[in-house]
Amino acid sequence: MKGPSVVIIGSGPSGFYTAESITKNLNSDIDIIDRLPTPFGLIRGGVAPDHQTTKKISSSYTKTAEKEKVKFFGNIEVGKDITIEELRELYDVVVLAIGSELDNKLEIKGSNLQGVYGSAEFVGWYNGHPDYVNLEPNLNTKNVVVIGNGNVAIDIVRVLSKTSEEMSDSDIPGYALDSIKKSPIKNLYIVGRRGPVEAKFTNVELREMGKLSNCVPIVNIDLPNELKGSYTERDQRLIEKNLETLKSFSTIEKNNKEKKLNFNFFQKPIEIIGDEKVDSIKFEKTKLEGSELRSTGEIIEINCGLVISAIGYTPKDIPGLNINDGVVENDNGRISKGFYAAGWIRRGPTGVIGTNKADGELVAELANKEFKNQIKDGRAALVKMIKSKNLKVTSFKDWEKIDSFEKKNAVVPAPRKKILTIKEMLNLCKI
Ligand SMILES: Cc1cc2nc3c(=O)[nH]c(=O)nc-3n(C[C@H](O)[C@H](O)[C@H](O)COP(=O)(O)OP(=O)(O)OC[C@H]3O[C@@H](n4cnc5c(N)ncnc54)[C@H](O)[C@@H]3O)c2cc1C
Repeated sequence: MKGPSVVIIGSGPSGFYTAESITKNLNSDIDIIDRLPTPFGLIRGGVAPDHQTTKKISSSYTKTAEKEKVKFFGNIEVGKDITIEELRELYDVVVLAIGSELDNKLEIKGSNLQGVYGSAEFVGWYNGHPDYVNLEPNLNTKNVVVIGNGNVAIDIVRVLSKTSEEMSDSDIPGYALDSIKKSPIKNLYIVGRRGPVEAKFTNVELREMGKLSNCVPIVNIDLPNELKGSYTERDQRLIEKNLETLKSFSTIEKNNKEKKLNFNFFQKPIEIIGDEKVDSIKFEKTKLEGSELRSTGEIIEINCGLVISAIGYTPKDIPGLNINDGVVENDNGRISKGFYAAGWIRRGPTGVIGTNKADGELVAELANKEFKNQIKDGRAALVKMIKSKNLKVTSFKDWEKIDSFEKKNAVVPAPRKKILTIKEMLNLCKI
């Protein structure tokens, strides 16, 4: 007996974990749609280009994509090319796994000035995401401020600090590498409203900042010797490790390193100053009273030509969705019968890649509980609709063509030279 027809919108980790779980639970055809011609979501366009080991997780998604029952349909944007309503008419099960693609806005005066970017844009630019390859951020500045105390902020300062040699085994596009190489950046500031104890850096990422060949990390406050308050054992261990790492930065040899990465804690951005473009940014110093963050009234100003905020993400609004507080309204993955959510769109933009696995299992369980066999046509009806709408769609084989082309054109030791526009990708696949 054939299981319910399934379509998953989004081919990032949560989309692929959901597909994998469903193949284990139901005898269903599973279609995965993505707005880009290429699969894997933030693994390709978010995870830092110098963290190739992390990107290797996509080989397990490839195994899922190559299963007989699974089919990839790239270059279809749901909400534009096809509506959610249409997909619900064609499929028994529709899974939303579209991530959280937009930047949370820095809500302060001056945040619209030239030279102020959100991390989705900036990371997309140095990762060759087709949406952002034309961003052209002006890196002609000595000082850069990155706002946020999570791993995305760390990624950004690391990519801006590494030498071309250190980036040689990455897949950063040439335009971004050149721009960073030519830039006179000397001082980077990573600024958090709260302190080192509250920072969300994972320890491996933080430690890496102490191993850069041309950049020295500097911590601008006295670090606590012991932790106050109560933490889970896991949190306590992580915080203690991070404090130890931050302390160890003071022993790093500063001479012969041209760049400085300043960790500025307890500073809240209040205004970005400039006429057309950013000239400086003002912060107010803060302090914690218990868990309450209080402003102290003390202002500091940093001259800079580039401000990047890495303060979280929010999903795009697609007709047919109720999005509230950064997630689609859902009850443990269930939006309504036959309509489910997984990944960042379900829980918000937190957690590591593996965190999305449980979401896939949750959705497979829900679908299994609510459906036993196929009622709606699914794939056959989608293919008909694609033809009637004259959509240009990539298959997984097309992605493999793009993948081998990119690998073939790489300059060793770089793993690939990314194709940067959708037009070029479609041309290569003769679509
Ligand atoms: C900059 C950055 C770096 C990160 N680095 C790491 C790391 O090093 N290690 C780690 O463990 N985690 C990392 N993460 C977290 C990890 O990437 C996420 O946990 C994971 O990608 C979330 O998966 P997702 O499937 O929910 O969303 P995504 O990965 O964003 O996938 C969503 C997919 O949906 C598609 N889509 C969106 N809208 C539509 C639409 N309308 N129609 C069709 N398709 C659509 C997108 O193109 C995309 O392919 C990082 C996150 C960011 C932002």
